[in-house]
Amino acid sequence: MSNKQIVCECGHKNPEGTQLCLNCGRLINDDYDKKKTTDVMRYDGQAIRSKTKNRTILDRVWNFFASVKTGVTLLVLTVIAASIGTIFPQEYFIPMNVNPEQYYYEHYGSLGLLYYKLGFHNLYSSWWFLILLGLVAFSIITSSIDRGIPLHKSLKNQRTKKHNSFYKRQRLNMTTQDQVDLEGIGKSFKNKRYKVKQDGNHLLLEKGRLSRYGPYINHTGLIILLFGAMLRFLPGFYLDEMLYVKEGETKPVPGTDRAYYIKNNDFIYEEYNQKSQSNSNPESIDPSLNKIAKNYETKATLYENDKQDVIGSNENLKAVASDSIKVNHPLTYDHLQFYQSSFDNSSLKEMTFNLKTKDGKALGQSFTVNLESPKKEYKLTDDLTVKLRSYAPDYEKIENGVLATKSPNPNNPAFVFEVTKKGEKPEFSFLRIKESQDISKGNQYDVKFANATNQWATVLAVKKDLTLPILFTGFVIFLIGLAVGSYINHRRIWINTDKGEFNIAGHTNKNYYGFSKEINQVLDKHQITHIKDTKEDIHESKEANNG
Ligand SMILES: [Zn+2]
Repeated sequence: MSNKQIVCECGHKNPEGTQLCLNCGRLINDDYDKKKTTDVMRYDGQAIRSKTKNRTILDRVWNFFASVKTGVTLLVLTVIAASIGTIFPQEYFIPMNVNPEQYYYEHYGSLGLLYYKLGFHNLYSSWWFLILLGLVAFSIITSSIDRGIPLHKSLKNQRTKKHNSFYKRQRLNMTTQDQVDLEGIGKSFKNKRYKVKQDGNHLLLEKGRLSRYGPYINHTGLIILLFGAMLRFLPGFYLDEMLYVKEGETKPVPGTDRAYYIKNNDFIYEEYNQKSQSNSNPESIDPSLNKIAKNYETKATLYENDKQDVIGSNENLKAVASDSIKVNHPLTYDHLQFYQSSFDNSSLKEMTFNLKTKDGKALGQSFTVNLESPKKEYKLTDDLTVKLRSYAPDYEKIENGVLATKSPNPNNPAFVFEVTKKGEKPEFSFLRIKESQDISKGNQYDVKFANATNQWATVLAVKKDLTLPILFTGFVIFLIGLAVGSYINHRRIWINTDKGEFNIAGHTNKNYYGFSKEINQVLDKHQITHIKDTKEDIHESKEANNG
């Protein structure tokens, strides 16, 4: 760290990079671009680290992140990324039982595949979005420290006495020969809620300093917002998952690390009676299209698992909540919410078969195969038994005499049955939907498909969001910062009576018109010449020249 100091004419030692002497307000930096002198009051002429130090790698990293350009670029990138994330649906909006990579490719082409590969399908939990948010936060913090701290220091340690050149550089400044009552003027400004500081024949009048902190309050709100958004990546703070539960099934709640389980006790589905619908030509349409769900709900029980922390142990479930989950009526427990999202009855649950002779005579009672966990043997009569020799829930092909399955889901079940009758040679047959064939030769019996029942499953959306209060706080602070920065004006007036003259200068961060009006009200009261906005003068003379 270098400690190069700049000594002002007044003798005050200022840190390197200072534009205006901390003590007397003289412009002391010769390198300072004269064109930018209107800017110099922005940070009260204080040394800004990013504008001063550029030697080590740390300096450069600091300067990079402290730059407004970097901050704005990162913010724009984040907004662009967030909007790209809305082009195609996020993963939790696509159907549950599909391969997401395949889904994005089939529905949105190669662009969809790219979308998936880059992680846009899960944008708000992707690592690079987290990094982007982190960089934005880092940039805001860096730039706030870079400019906020020097500004704060200089506002806190303001001297009342300023050099004549400081007065002359202010947009509002005037020197008159008026004889004035310094105390009286101070009092008048005090009545206008100015803070008055006096040092000999010098006055400093100030109000609305808070306005200068507006951007930093604003930044604090943004940081809290970003922090809240990043907390979503931590387990336990945020959940947005889909859960597929079959009737009668109990499943661990995703994202809770086996702390909670939910059971679908019963799924109720009601639909409008077709005939009551005012459908002009119902016959011409597939009847299933006319079905409109009137109500669907899940009778669910939520369980807490006592043995969550014991690795490898069986769960010990304790019912903690029971409710009927309907659209717009979630089950709620301990910040967890379960919403009715949709349902599925497309997969098969059971298939029932009859055994018949070749000439169509039924033998014994029918038998039902549970497609999830089929029994091996079905006794039809005392001497007639059907054995399930091979089973594929999602038939693909026959491999080495065994049925191969694509998935464990009963989408396309296939069976090899063995029919045995006491004293007779066993018979084999192969069955799948719309197809049956004898395997052994000269079969006497046919296994015939009778009917099937579908499996009802509910699709629940599991939600939890502990970051909302944080996001809300951040947003409120952000708005406060915005209001403070917009509605409060920081006004400062310097007055002295050096050499028997009346010198006055004023600076504000906005609304010079209102400011000069306020000063002139006081000057009026003390019979002093009005102050004029020097910027307005320039403006007027330009107009005059043009005209
Ligand atoms: Zn000085």
